[in-house]
Amino acid sequence: MKKNILNSALIVSLCLVLFSCSQEEIDETTSKVTYSPELITLESGVVVEKQGDNYLWEGDILLSPTQLKALNDSGTIFIEAIENPAPITSLNPVTNLPVSLSSENGEQTKALGIYPTAYNLWAMVRFTYNANLTSTQKYYIKVALLDIESRTNIRFYNATGQPTVDPTYGFAYPYVDFTAIGDEDTSSSYVGRIGGRQQISLADFAFSYWSSRVIEHEILHACGMLHEQCRKDRDNYVTIDWSNLTSSGEAQFTKRTSNYYMIGSYDFNSIMGYPSKTDSQSAVVSTSEPMYTKKDGSYITQGSIPSDLDRRWVNTLYLPYIARSDVYRELDAVVYKSDNTVMTASERLSLQAQLNNGVSTPPAGGQISNEF
Ligand SMILES: [Zn+2]
Repeated sequence: MKKNILNSALIVSLCLVLFSCSQEEIDETTSKVTYSPELITLESGVVVEKQGDNYLWEGDILLSPTQLKALNDSGTIFIEAIENPAPITSLNPVTNLPVSLSSENGEQTKALGIYPTAYNLWAMVRFTYNANLTSTQKYYIKVALLDIESRTNIRFYNATGQPTVDPTYGFAYPYVDFTAIGDEDTSSSYVGRIGGRQQISLADFAFSYWSSRVIEHEILHACGMLHEQCRKDRDNYVTIDWSNLTSSGEAQFTKRTSNYYMIGSYDFNSIMGYPSKTDSQSAVVSTSEPMYTKKDGSYITQGSIPSDLDRRWVNTLYLPYIARSDVYRELDAVVYKSDNTVMTASERLSLQAQLNNGVSTPPAGGQISNEF
């Protein structure tokens, strides 16, 4: 996500001092960093931003070469676009269990994310701390990881220093590499599991007391979630001030019309929604005016933690596995159902048996160390 108004106070002094990037300049009249993004309009009409060797979509979503080509050719990040996908009501694509993704009242999971398949979500999110992180930065990442684990079924596996290629079968492990990128305008992440190394780029502004939400936002992208303001029905809930958006800003409000998975009303508390105001001068003409507001004109503030509806999205699709060296699928003590309630012990053991061909008790000695 882009630098925004809430965390800007902490980094304003940095902004005034550090501006090594060639695309940033100090505006003498306002003493603020200005930023000139390199925008590229693809053949499909989608606008992406080039930063060095990286291509960014909607502001902070990194694109793999395959996704960039698909976006160029078809306007989606999928090679074969899934138009208006039907709700999943038979098999959970991740757990392969015959469970409905509908909640108890018949509504589908809420919040907005990629269309879930067994190929773009994770069992456990394997991650590494890049060697360029300070111990303080690693602490902030750890806080974000533990917060997500406490609220959701997502689990992380710390593979720092471990092989990146499977020693037996030779395939590259998919993993998130948390990397510090210094005083940049944007922190960014790929969406969903890409395969091999995928970087979560964390700018200086991501490391501050009230900004574990920046880190959590980028992590949730990697888990498959998309921007709330890109819902195709968002115009029923918000008013966008197109006159205040630059081309880069407009690209952050592209509606998602295919390959998404959502239902339910707009979530103003989502950690995946942008706040009304931004300090990112690449996105707006005037940082004192909002990018968009609620229909009544009031401002939207981005959630600081995953909202109830954000949690429903991931709790529907993920299960909290414990890291093991064998193939037994052991569940953590707290398993959230898709409505965010917690399974009883008997429900959890029943599910664990279902995942393991009827065996409810894990073999002894299989758990492996997994410290953050
Ligand atoms: Zn984002």
